[in-house]
Parts: sequence; C-alpha cells; structure tokens
Amino acid sequence: MLLLLLLHKLRPSFTILSSSSYYSSSLSFLSSCSSYSDKKVSMATIDESSLRKALSDKQSALEAQGNAVRQLKSSSAATKPEIEAAIEALNALKLDKSSIERQLHALISNGEGAVNKEAFRQAVVNTLERRLFYIPSFKIYRGVAGLYDYGPPGCSVKSNVLAFWRQHFVLEENMLEVDCPCVTPEVVLKASGHVEKFTDLMVKDEKTGTCYRADHLLKDFCNEKLQKDLAISSEKAAYIKHLLATLDDLSAEELGAKIKEFGIVAPDTKNPLSDPYPFNLMFQTSIGPSGSSTGYMRPETAQGIFVNFRDLYYYNGSKLPFAAAQIGQAFRNEISPRQGLLRVREFTLAEIEHFVDPEDKSHPKYSEVADLEFLMFPRQEQVSGQSAKRVRLGDAVSKGIVNNETLGYFIGRVYLFLTRLGIGEERLRFRQHLANEMAHYAADCWDAEIESSYGWIECVGIADRSAYDLRAHSEKSGVQLVAQEKFSEPKEVEKLVIAPVKKELGVAFKGSQKNVVEALEAMKEKDALDMKATLESKGEVEFEVCTLGKTVTIKKNMVNIKKEKKKEHQRVFTPSVIEPSFGIGRIIYCLFEHAFYTRPSKAGDEQLNVFRFPPLVAPIKCTVFPLVQNQKYEEVAKFISKSLTAAGISHRIDITG
Ligand code: AMP
Repeated sequence: MLLLLLLHKLRPSFTILSSSSYYSSSLSFLSSCSSYSDKKVSMATIDESSLRKALSDKQSALEAQGNAVRQLKSSSAATKPEIEAAIEALNALKLDKSSIERQLHALISNGEGAVNKEAFRQAVVNTLERRLFYIPSFKIYRGVAGLYDYGPPGCSVKSNVLAFWRQHFVLEENMLEVDCPCVTPEVVLKASGHVEKFTDLMVKDEKTGTCYRADHLLKDFCNEKLQKDLAISSEKAAYIKHLLATLDDLSAEELGAKIKEFGIVAPDTKNPLSDPYPFNLMFQTSIGPSGSSTGYMRPETAQGIFVNFRDLYYYNGSKLPFAAAQIGQAFRNEISPRQGLLRVREFTLAEIEHFVDPEDKSHPKYSEVADLEFLMFPRQEQVSGQSAKRVRLGDAVSKGIVNNETLGYFIGRVYLFLTRLGIGEERLRFRQHLANEMAHYAADCWDAEIESSYGWIECVGIADRSAYDLRAHSEKSGVQLVAQEKFSEPKEVEKLVIAPVKKELGVAFKGSQKNVVEALEAMKEKDALDMKATLESKGEVEFEVCTLGKTVTIKKNMVNIKKEKKKEHQRVFTPSVIEPSFGIGRIIYCLFEHAFYTRPSKAGDEQLNVFRFPPLVAPIKCTVFPLVQNQKYEEVAKFISKSLTAAGISHRIDITG
C-alpha cells in the first residue's frame, strides 16, 4: 500500500483506542505534556461519573425489583419460594446500592474528587489554550475578563457544532431561519422586560469598589460551609441547604441580610461589602450620531424572532405550528465572569422559537422521541433531596411531569443532539426548574445540564413561555401578533368590536393615522370599555400610542366601541412559544472536557493529552500519510488531498514518513 488514508466517517463515536493506533492519533489532537507542569492527570472525574451512573442504574433496578416483589405478593399464583427469592434479590440490590453510595460519598467528602477535578480542568484548559482552541481576547493588552477568541481548531469545532445544529433542528423541522441585528432599539427590550428586569444583584467592596454577584458570594459561602465545616450541626446544615435551594427567591434586602448574618466579606481583600443592588446586564449604546436614541446589544436572539412573527407566520402560509431559529452573538455584561467559556460577556446563542396553538400542544413527531430514556431530574425529586433518575420520556409526559408533548419533543431532540455530538449520556441530565426559578408566565422549563469539572452546568434551556412574548410586543407596538384558526362552520359569539373611523383619524393625525389605528385595535377589552365610558361621559380621552412615543387625544367621532353578537368564521389567538435556547460556548467547553484523556507516549517517557472527538465535531477528519518518503508518493498524497478538499473533508497531509 502506497498511502494510508485515514478517514473517519462511519463510526458514531470513538471508544478508547490503543496508543499505537494511527486511527486514534490521526483524529485526535496530540499535545506533548513535557513542557507542562501537569504530568499525570487522574481520571477521578470519570470514576465519579461512572459511580453516579452505576448508582442511577442500581436505583432503577431496585425500583423494578420492588414492583416485582409487590406484584408477586399480591398474586395468588405466586409460590412462597418465588416470593422469597424475589425478596432476596431485592435485598442484594439494596446492599449493592448502599455500597456504591458509600464509595461515591468517600470520593466526594475526602476532597480528592475536588482536587482531581481542579488538576483535570487545568490540564484541559492548558491544552486548549496552547493548541489555540480558544484564548483570552486582547491578550497582548492583558485581556478582558469574560471575552475569548476561538483559534483555528476552536473555529472548526464551533462551525461543526453549528452545522450539525442547523441539520438536526433547522433542516429536520423546516424551521425558518433568520439573522437579526445585535444592536436593538430600547423600545423592543422595554417591551420584553429586559430594560426593567434583566438584572443581577451586585455588591461592592466598600474600599476598592470591586464588584461581585451577591448570590454567588452567598452560594460559595454556603457550599464551602457544607463541604469543609465537619462540625456543622444537622439543623444548621439543613438550614444552609434550604437557603441554597431558595437563593433565587431572595430579594435584595433578604440577600443583604444573609450576607450580614454570615459575616461574608469581599473574597480578595476581606473588606466589608455594600448592600446588594440591581445591576442591568445589558450593554447600553446609542444609535445614530445624536445620542438621543438609546439602544442595547441584544442579551438574547429571541426578540428578533418575536418582532418578526407577523411576517414569518404569513411566510409559513398562515399555519401553525411552525418554528423560527436564529444563531448569533448575545451580550451580557456579567458582573464577575469566571469559569472560562462557561460565563462570558459575549457568546453565541442558537435559539428556536416554536409557535404553537395554546389549546393544542401535541407534536406530530412526538412518537419518534417518546421511547428515549435518559436522566431526568423533576422538581419533586429535587425538593425531596433525591437524585436524577433514568426515565422514559413518554412516561414523564403522560404523567404530566413534563407539561406537554411539544416541550417533551424538544427535550428528546436536545438529548439526541447533545449525545450525537459526543456528550456522555451519563453526564447529561434534564433538570426541571423549581417554581421559584420560573418566570410567572412560564408553563414549564427544563435545563439540559452537562456535568463538567465545574459541576452540572446549564447548557440548554427549554421553556414553554406561553404567550408572554408575543402579547408583550403586541401591546407595546400596537401590531397584532396573532394567529387564526378557520372554523368549518361559523360560530355565534358576543364580541367587543373596536372600529376606528379612519377618515376622522386621517384628518386629525395625518401620517400617524396608521399607528393610532393599530394601537386602538390592539387595546385589551378592559381598556377599550374604559375608553368607551370616558368618550361617552367626556367626549374625548387621552390615549398613549407607543409606536409614536406620545399621547394623543381621541374624540368620540374617531372610534366606535361596542359589544356585538357576531358570527365568527375563525378564532384569533396569541400563539404559545416553546423555546429551546443553546449556549454554544458552554456545549463546546463540555465537549472538550468529555473528549479529553491522557495516555503515555509510545516511548512511555511522557504523558500525552488527547482530545478524542467524535468525527462530527473533530476539527480535522483525516490525515493522508505517504508511507515512504518519495517525491512520487507525495504527488499522489497531494492528489488525494485535493479530492478530499473537493469533497469538503477537512484533513492534513503528513509527509514526515
Ligand atoms: P438564558 O437566556 O439565561 O436561559 O440563557 C440561555 C443559554 O445561554 C443558557 O442555557 C446558557 O447555555 C447560555 N448562557 C447564558 N449566559 C451565558 C454566559 N454569560 N456565558 C456563556 N453562556 C451563557
């Protein structure tokens, strides 16, 4: 054989390969460790996760065996020896489970797990930065916290992940992809609630002015107390655990009181801290040279989709359900970015807004995912202190644990997406939001969390946001963001009719007539009835038209408002939105950790750091090796390389012989 061509297209993922395998080394990035201080990295993280998997399997087996025993006991056909044998098997499973629990507890509580995790992370991050997967931005000027550049292999991995995202979601579901600007006018983010509410509570070092996220300080304090204070009483431990679970619920005053109660000070200087106060995470800017028009760098891509709903719905043939998707940069001025790519100030989001009739949240392709089984962590299990368990998705939906089929469908699709990318199945779980974590309008929310050396990290949020966003933009813009369902037979209903008199409005408002008409038509029933009463008693009323940014005077002859019995041919409603939102940087970082391992070099004199990527995400898919150093073979290698390029397969040529 003249040339050895290593092409990896078929295998869905790689198992651990022997160190002598060309197959492995051609796909993996090998990084000699000799120039690092980190020589050998323990695989304790992997041990911990395999223990967790064993525990979850054992728990499932225990439940199944428990059911079997109950069935046998209630069956008249079961013999005594059969029942005894089943009980014996149940007891054996219980013993196995407590043995695994003890091992896991020992690993976590002696701190070894944490130390090894730190060393493991250091090795991963060093290799990633040295190999230019990603690097701190503006490094020669000492960088800026929370901003990172992707280097060549990092860009490759990112574009592979995004290409697969487009294929798995956009193509598969015929989604309507859009690409909207990052700079967003204030009115949009006022309507969505971001200007008022997109805040974190911050405290300042009273002497140096350094800022910290108040909840992070309290969380770190509580975690440290639970881990390190061996003398802590069980009551105090329970109090702290409860505090951790309800941290998101605390107001600024309550958070401040807890910080004082525990005597928490600035971590770097030990100086006293200010009271917590809200800090808006959006980067503000102004649009145009005058500085009079405020804008923000978008904190999420979703709003661009919502404001385009009317056009997208029309583009889709005025049919529901349909989904729109957007990939783009999002900006959040995080108070204290930490954890590398996991909490940054500019990041790539990939978001889907699936619009659905609130009265019918079934999904035509739900049966394709209903049989999937994976780790789920429902609210109930979290509050009762249990751990995540393997659950059949279809069971979670039919029992009402997951609110509806469409939400379930997307949970299943996200599971498939992440595992096909190479996220370890036993290190991925779907955690339901606790009641205090969810926005008041949300029907249900689940986070896809991936386990990394930083713990379980939210990488994808999947939320049923009900009709909140479209309603908010309808109200603010005066443009109805609604859908229609045509009836086969007309139905008689009593309806409030708002009929703007365009001729009179045209005379009074000239070029602004359209804005006033749309705002009048978008009025809620109560507001319209109030307007009618005022017009009847006073003859005119002041009316705010948001799209004009001012109040206008509406006279009695400009609008007719009345209740009428009408035959309706259609139902007009605001669609609900199911939103899966993917933090691409977080997914990529977790992929890096899950793909990383170390092995000795062939000579056995040094430790190699290896990323074992699945072909789907591997930056380089194959290598062409001429086995003999010879001009003729090099030419052939170049020819093969050209063909690979034409086929769009990223590769290298290695002519070192
Ligand atoms: P959210 O809109 O807050 O639910 O965020 C959506 C997704 O964006 C999350 O699931 C994360 O994966 C990601 N994300 C949020 N904030 C950050 C951040 N500061 N840095 C990186 N990714 C983030």
